[in-house]
Amino acid sequence: MADGSRCSHIEGCELYPRFSLRGALRIWQDRYCNHPTHHQKCERFVRSNAGQPVPATLLPNGEHIAT
Ligand code: SF4
Repeated sequence: MADGSRCSHIEGCELYPRFSLRGALRIWQDRYCNHPTHHQKCERFVRSNAGQPVPATLLPNGEHIAT
């Protein structure tokens, strides 16, 4: 379902603020969070909508952020 705006999960997303803190990770915001349709392919977005657990380290592409 495309709503033409950025991801509706941004306010509650554990990773979104971390993307802001680390310049190298801001690419995720551009590619997923703030994109009108690509955020729907984000693994965090998909799992959350499916009622599945969303690990704090899960990246939009399904890989995990280094901790
Ligand atoms: S990481 Fe995924 S769920 Fe979180 S704000 Fe970005 S697009 Fe939305």
